[in-house]
This record gives sequence, C-alpha cells and structure tokens, in this order.
Amino acid sequence: MRKMLIANWKMNLSYDDSLGLASKYVELIDKFAKENDIAIAPSFPCLPEIKKKLAHSAIVLGAQDVSSEESGAFTGEVSAEMLAEIGCQYAIVGHSERRLNVNETDEMIGKKINQCFNRKLIPILCIGETSEEKERGERDSILARQLHRALEKVKANSESDLIIAYEPVWAIGTGNPVRAEDLQPVQLLIKRTVCSLFSEKYYSDHVRFIYGGSVDAKNAKEFLQLDFISGLLAGTVSLNADDFLAVAQALS
Ligand code: PEP
Repeated sequence: MRKMLIANWKMNLSYDDSLGLASKYVELIDKFAKENDIAIAPSFPCLPEIKKKLAHSAIVLGAQDVSSEESGAFTGEVSAEMLAEIGCQYAIVGHSERRLNVNETDEMIGKKINQCFNRKLIPILCIGETSEEKERGERDSILARQLHRALEKVKANSESDLIIAYEPVWAIGTGNPVRAEDLQPVQLLIKRTVCSLFSEKYYSDHVRFIYGGSVDAKNAKEFLQLDFISGLLAGTVSLNADDFLAVAQALS
C-alpha cells in the first residue's frame, strides 16, 4: 500500500540550506517517492526554487501553513491560490506550534481547510493533546473537540482529500513518541468523528490518518507497519537527508 512521508522543516534552515537539503532529497529519497507519497514542506520563500529542483523528481511540495482568507488586505498571509500556482500539493494546517505560538484557533483552521479545498490543495490537519491534557485523561475529548470545531463548517466535495495527522504536543521534538499500541484508539476516534460529520464513504474514499511526533529511523518501521496508518509527519529527523533516508527505507 502507498504510504506517505511529509518532511516539515519548520523555520530551522536558511534559504540556502533549504535548497541544499532539497537537492540531497532528490539524490537520496526520490526513488522512494515513486511508490509512496513523499512531500517536503519548507518555508514559504523557498517554495518556488525547490519546486524547480523537484521538476524531474517524484517528491512533491507542501506548505507549512496557508491563509484562512481567500485574498485581500491580510498582511503577511499566503493564499491557497498562490500555493497552488507555485505547485504545492499539500498544506499543513493547525500545527500545534501555530496553535500555541500564534493563537491559531479551530475556527481559523476550518477556514484554512476550506481554502485548501477550493484550490485543490490537500490539507494536513494536525491535532493533538498537550502533556497536561494527557495527564488529566483528556486526550479523546480534546481530539474530538479539535476535530468538531475545525471541520463543522468545512465543505467537502467528491474531490476533497484530507489528511489528519495525530501529533501529540508532548511527542513533538521530545524524543518521546507515542506508543504504537495507543494509535489505534485515536484512529478509531478520528474515523468515528469524521464519519459523523461527513459520511463513511467520505472517510473511506478521502481521509488518510498519519502520525507525527519524534519519528526517527528506529521507530519508523513499527509505525509504518500498522495497516491503519497511512504515513508519518516528520520534523527533526527530516532536517538531515541521511536520517530521513533511513526513515524512507522503512517504507519498504
Ligand atoms: C512536527 O512538529 O510536526 C514533528 C513531527 O516534529 P518532530 O518530528 O521533531 O517531533
């Protein structure tokens, strides 16, 4: 089965270093992108130049964010239209770093998903509980609330693909990933919630469930072997092409 890997480089690299890393991806990772969906999500300014580097590669481009608005007087924002014009296929929405650092709300996230659907970008909706919420046993209620609030006003049609990434905040960048056995209940909760908001057909035809949080070369295989997981969202490990290659090797 085709699986996906999304490399979220965040704001870790300079412009030049981003272009250099993209070249290494083409050299080392491209072969895995023929039978799997592999995307790089660099910072906005790098997108056009990296798109050129990917011209003869099966690796595709994603954005780390997208505006909740279509166009207009929104200083600093980047529209879904522009991302689609550049050639992005995916846009990450609702990453916990944006929820926590710039107060991105579930309502804004829902609008971002609609903007993506309007421009045929595939949104990667990130959801996840904090360590305090986990300690209080609130994981499921937090995830259900994030999903309901983000998706309740979303207008999906027969072309609207959606990726939902479970990214517990306590697992991001900590070296402390989720236990593989804890993922199935989360996937079932997501499935139940999305089916109730849309339909079973929509879920089975259009929704993919992925995991993100301290994925590395050692644990990637265990996650990718789970048949209900469609892939992985990788941060830290994606910043080094050799380390990401080791994750990609776990695809086969
Ligand atoms: C992320 O922030 O999306 C992420 C998965 O980061 P890391 O792999 O570093 O935990």
